[in-house]
Amino acid sequence: MTRVGIGYDSHRFVEGRPLILGGVTIPYARGLAGHSDADAVAHALTDAILGAAAAGDIGQLFPDTDPQWKDADSMELLRSAHDLVRGRGYALAQADLTIISEQPKLGPHLGTMAAALTARLGAPPGSVSLKAKTNEGMGFIGRGEGIAVIAVATLEAR
Ligand code: MG
Repeated sequence: MTRVGIGYDSHRFVEGRPLILGGVTIPYARGLAGHSDADAVAHALTDAILGAAAAGDIGQLFPDTDPQWKDADSMELLRSAHDLVRGRGYALAQADLTIISEQPKLGPHLGTMAAALTARLGAPPGSVSLKAKTNEGMGFIGRGEGIAVIAVATLEAR
């Protein structure tokens, strides 16, 4: 049986933080605001994996009111969420993500991010697909205020 989940996340750009996406630090003048390291790619994929297993969401598992998750490594939260669904008899089969951001150009970093994600999840190479788009100058993304990520994940019984 295959189960499908969707995840969405957005974060605001701020000065003085590193930009971390998919576990990769990307050279840029600004980073993302958040209680954790604000890795919106890891967060969206975490929610897609949890959603596919009907196992809640990232905010329920790792509340941003809990000091334990302050500046947390979101790739570890992702791995932890995947471990939870594994405990329920599923494993990630495949995921597809779209990152929507006006700046910086993310294309050159997508392969590194995909490799970092599959490695952390113990998933086969090629099982995580990443794409980057701009928002054609429209809305909060177009104004460079923040970034959004959409993820779809499929789980298979194991
Ligand atoms: Mg988030």
